[in-house]
Amino acid sequence: MNKKKGMPANKIQDLQFFGEFGGVNPSISDSSTFTYLEGKTMGDVFEGSRDGCYLYSRHTNPSTSYLGQAIAQMEYTKGAVLSASGMAAISSTLLQLCSSKDEIISSRTIYGGTYAFMKNFLPKFNIKTTFVNTTKLEEIESAITKNTKVIYCETISNPLLEVSDISSIAEIAKKNGIKLVVDNTFTPMIFSPSMMGADIVIHSLTKFINGTSDTVGGVVCSDEEFIGSMIDVNSGSAMLLGPVMDALRAASILKNIRTLHLRIKKHSENAMYLARAFKKDGLRVIYPGLKEHPQHEIMKNSMNDSFGFGGMFVIDAITKEKGNAFMEEMQKDNLGYLAVSLGFYKTLFSAPGLSTSSEIPEHEREEMGLSDGLVRISIGLDNDIERTYNTMIRCMKKVEIL
Ligand code: PLP
Repeated sequence: MNKKKGMPANKIQDLQFFGEFGGVNPSISDSSTFTYLEGKTMGDVFEGSRDGCYLYSRHTNPSTSYLGQAIAQMEYTKGAVLSASGMAAISSTLLQLCSSKDEIISSRTIYGGTYAFMKNFLPKFNIKTTFVNTTKLEEIESAITKNTKVIYCETISNPLLEVSDISSIAEIAKKNGIKLVVDNTFTPMIFSPSMMGADIVIHSLTKFINGTSDTVGGVVCSDEEFIGSMIDVNSGSAMLLGPVMDALRAASILKNIRTLHLRIKKHSENAMYLARAFKKDGLRVIYPGLKEHPQHEIMKNSMNDSFGFGGMFVIDAITKEKGNAFMEEMQKDNLGYLAVSLGFYKTLFSAPGLSTSSEIPEHEREEMGLSDGLVRISIGLDNDIERTYNTMIRCMKKVEIL
């Protein structure tokens, strides 16, 4: 595992793309289709016997390719394919990997949309998912059958912020000839899952990577073979389902990714400050940067240096009512927005509730500490975090959480 200081940030810093007229930003190719001087060349491209030519933007486009190269560099993979949303990246990856009768083993605490896709949508194609606690390696191993094609997890899960032991899960996957797919949306730069053995790394670009909450987007990073299979004109899920990203969006996300390292460091610094302070105040706080977090050591030993433990933390307001009152109060005080999503310059908060965890039996939810009053906070880039802390304390006192 390469843990050289700040490496993923260096990879972005070292990108060198020239625009058409020597511009310091690559030119935007807002064309859906591309001309050929000779009919034969077009035929060769269709047959896949000629690389390096653009054909049609549902397949590839120069602007999405620039962004793809940047993210592939950051994730230490050979290739990447962009998509119009994180869900498009997830659904087209799983549909590329699985056919009828195949099985997926997934973490039971994953993003709600991914959970719903596996639980409600994939059975239409006769693809079954077994949900397990992926922090318990023996649960993964005992769920493997001869039909298992994919193990799926997130680097840090929602809402308990459980950290996956990617290297150990990758060993299990390799031993059994199974592909490991990891959603790295919560921890870009912090984790490099492909360096830890993941076969495919996915991001919702909607979150930290873009960082301005102005678009949805997604990416799948993997080796050339898998990326090639996804954009294959005859059998690729990205090509045939067509969830492509637009060139203009790709160009704007490429500009934002250049500051990702700075933003991640600041989000992490702010989250650590608040998590420590609220813990001292006697609140139940979930943050992987705290020593008492069950996977603190795993994270410390496997994350990249210098980006911190991420910008997400959870506060337990005990009841749903208090959680809601707390969030409404914070929004009234202009501390941030009561909104889903994450990775914005302003703080975003929402109650993960029991949506994706409703399948987990009540006694297990209690054991896990999955209370109805959890408030998930994506801390902003607040310059004066002490001021933010004081405002949050005022809100907590008002709604009697403290
Ligand atoms: N993965 C994670 C961890 C998410 O939190 C989300 C969205 O919240 C997604 C994937 C889906 O991404 P998108 O909303 O861009 O489709």
